[in-house]
Amino acid sequence: MAENKHNKLLMAILIGLILGSIFGIIFAFIEPDNVIRQYALAAAAPLGTLFINLLKMIVTPVIIFTLISGTASIAPSKLGKVGVKIIVFYLLTSLMAIIVGLIIGNIMQPGTGIVLAESSKEIAVKTPPSIIEIFLAIVPTNPFDSIAKGDVLPIIFFSIFFGIALAFVRDSKDAQIKEAGDVVFKFFDGCSQVIFKVVGWVMMYAPIGVFFLIFQVFTQQGAEAFGPLLHVTIAVYIGLALQMFVVYMLICAAFKIPPVLFLKKIYEPWLTAFVTRSSGGTLPVSMNTAETKMGIPKGVYSFTLPLGATVNMDGTTIYLGVCAMFVANAIGASLDMGQQMTIIITAVLASIGTAGVPGAGAIMLIMVLNSVGLDLSEPNVQMAYAMILGIDALLDMGRTSMNIVGDLCGTCVVAKMENEMDMSYWDKNA
Ligand code: ASP
Repeated sequence: MAENKHNKLLMAILIGLILGSIFGIIFAFIEPDNVIRQYALAAAAPLGTLFINLLKMIVTPVIIFTLISGTASIAPSKLGKVGVKIIVFYLLTSLMAIIVGLIIGNIMQPGTGIVLAESSKEIAVKTPPSIIEIFLAIVPTNPFDSIAKGDVLPIIFFSIFFGIALAFVRDSKDAQIKEAGDVVFKFFDGCSQVIFKVVGWVMMYAPIGVFFLIFQVFTQQGAEAFGPLLHVTIAVYIGLALQMFVVYMLICAAFKIPPVLFLKKIYEPWLTAFVTRSSGGTLPVSMNTAETKMGIPKGVYSFTLPLGATVNMDGTTIYLGVCAMFVANAIGASLDMGQQMTIIITAVLASIGTAGVPGAGAIMLIMVLNSVGLDLSEPNVQMAYAMILGIDALLDMGRTSMNIVGDLCGTCVVAKMENEMDMSYWDKNA
């Protein structure tokens, strides 16, 4: 989407949020059994649900097409020592990120104090399956069945497998096989372009959808709903700050990469990610930083950074953890240890499946919520989700910038481990 158009859309979503809140607060003053208020709420509900349905519609295709085309672009020749190290790094830091997110969620308890839909029934949060069951369920016995049911984890698993196999086929020495691989790659790459067009169109309805969803929240809540929104934003940003200033800084120090200098060097990609809200869009800037400011050879960063922009989303992982707790608290169902364990696994996998484009994390939040039984067909869950969606741009800026920092941190660590980093770039005066 052209930058200008994109900014206009963000503005329109914000206006949808503000107008929805204003109209909602006005209607909150009307007696609950007043006919006009009841009609307004009844009319708003389907128009809000329409937006949720549109979002659900794009989850599966977005994951399949972007993951397959993303992983298939990685040259298999690079999947050597560097490949293994960076994959382990990305997985471990994503795990740390979700732990940070859940710790913050448990301490700050975002979403408490919201009372949604006076008439709606209580939701029993589903007992999660055991860890072994979750791991086994990740491997689809029939990928097409998983696609039909919209089971996201097996879809992610299969798409990565398929994408890597496709990368090998494209790399084949047999010209015929290679050509066939290139055709399949072009097909999926084309499909991912198409689905992003569809996402763009769906998002055009976002201002209206957000308006009607937020209208319902504020009609039932009055102005009190602002507090929880501020609360969850602060919680997400504290989580992001911890990941940056504690986790990454400790990792840098452990690998003898000057932490303060690292912070100075990442400023440009960090800021670019913050304003563009796209890991993919920031990739050229991160690559330039790795090359010209960090002394990392192309052989390392040309693999680690695109891979990171596709699968490593630490900021998104934190956001998923904090926001899942927000939604659970908002509907009055707190998440126990077992459910939080489920979130650890699903959030890490969801972040892997998140495309590096604006707003993708919010789509993946749907599946994390689903994994603990917070179903979006339930009106209360819809409204709590809409509250998050209303402030998504704000949260997306922070989480995208942290996604990028994680990729650069991993790239530095792997380059250092491989003795491939030119340390003259890290002299204080460099
Ligand atoms: N916007 C994020 C990124 O590009 C993904 C997300 O929405 O979480 O990294």
